[in-house]
Amino acid sequence: MDLSKRITGLTGDGDDGWGIFIKARRMKAAGKPVLELTIGEHDDRTEQIILDKMHASASGGHTGYAMVPGTDALRETVAKRIEERTGVPTSIDNILITPGGQSALFAAHSAVCDPGDAAMYIDPYYATYPGTIRGVGALPVPVQTRSSLDFQPQVDDLEAGLTPQVKSLMINSPNNPTGVVYSRETLENIAGFAKKHDLWLISDEVYDTQIWEGEHISPRALPDMKDRTLVIGSMSKSHAMTGSRCGWICAPEGVIANLITLATHTTYGVAGFIQDAAKFALEQGVDFEEKIAAPFRRRREIAKRLMKGQNAVKLIPAGGAMYLMLDIRATGLSGEDFAEGLLDQELIAVMPGESFGAASAGHIRVAMTIPDDQFEDAFARLLKYAAEK
Ligand code: PMP
Repeated sequence: MDLSKRITGLTGDGDDGWGIFIKARRMKAAGKPVLELTIGEHDDRTEQIILDKMHASASGGHTGYAMVPGTDALRETVAKRIEERTGVPTSIDNILITPGGQSALFAAHSAVCDPGDAAMYIDPYYATYPGTIRGVGALPVPVQTRSSLDFQPQVDDLEAGLTPQVKSLMINSPNNPTGVVYSRETLENIAGFAKKHDLWLISDEVYDTQIWEGEHISPRALPDMKDRTLVIGSMSKSHAMTGSRCGWICAPEGVIANLITLATHTTYGVAGFIQDAAKFALEQGVDFEEKIAAPFRRRREIAKRLMKGQNAVKLIPAGGAMYLMLDIRATGLSGEDFAEGLLDQELIAVMPGESFGAASAGHIRVAMTIPDDQFEDAFARLLKYAAEK
């Protein structure tokens, strides 16, 4: 029996870029002591106080169907948080609670693209982006950024990628995989481009609490942007709740009203006890979010200290997220060959830049997601491996 082209063609040429990750997991399963610097997930699990809240909510009976758009209480909390942080008036009618940021990205593209339309996104990119766009029947249009310009998108490159079919542009700051936080100037240029060509802007802000330098600016807060911007948020990274699958879309009321209808016919909402736990977690405030982000801040300092006085690898200057993007072109290797060799020789797994698009070829992404002492050991060995190439 034939399956739909939309499903079988989701990953384009069939390579989803996770080869090294899968190989590392297999080696680990076979008993090899592989250090994994691959996936964007905290080494610490969800805090006990959040789990206690989740348990109390479920035991208290919140295990039935929850309201499809999200509970009023969580939508209210998310709206208030966004309004406080951006200054943009935001109510529960601007918020849809979703099963994680990933499904929010899919819903956002469903809202703004018809089959046959095109959707732009920035390369290097989070691995699921092109598949998410294909999933709604639209054509993914990558816009390359340049290592030499610290991967900040340039208007000329956006203009060059534009076709009459393009309906939306997706950006992600702080960025996965580069860690780059878009400057105010970059965001103003992007906003100007979106307004000039009447495009929707989808702003993936799931790393908004992981800022090591500079500031996080939501483009929804820039002049005349709130009516064309869909912001994606998530509890995954900010509160170490990846497995709880709880995120949101913040968008104009008319968009949310339609997305509620979509949710009714797809996810039918998010578990009530998860939403209660998410509300409780958000109410713990900025200090709690800092605590969750602190290990990555520390490990970034460790990496910067170890990198002094060597020139085999170059760190892309970046102010956020749980990743380091390293330019390894001086070794003469591709990102894939570097990562493959590092895994075979040193039992250290990193992601080749090539898995995140053409723009990060010759780079590797290091996730700072193992305990400090192991991270220091792995990073020192990575540098030694690079220096010996
Ligand atoms: N956007 C980016 C940039 C991500 O890195 C991730 C997860 N790694 C997501 C969205 C989705 O996260 P979740 O579905 O867990 O909220």
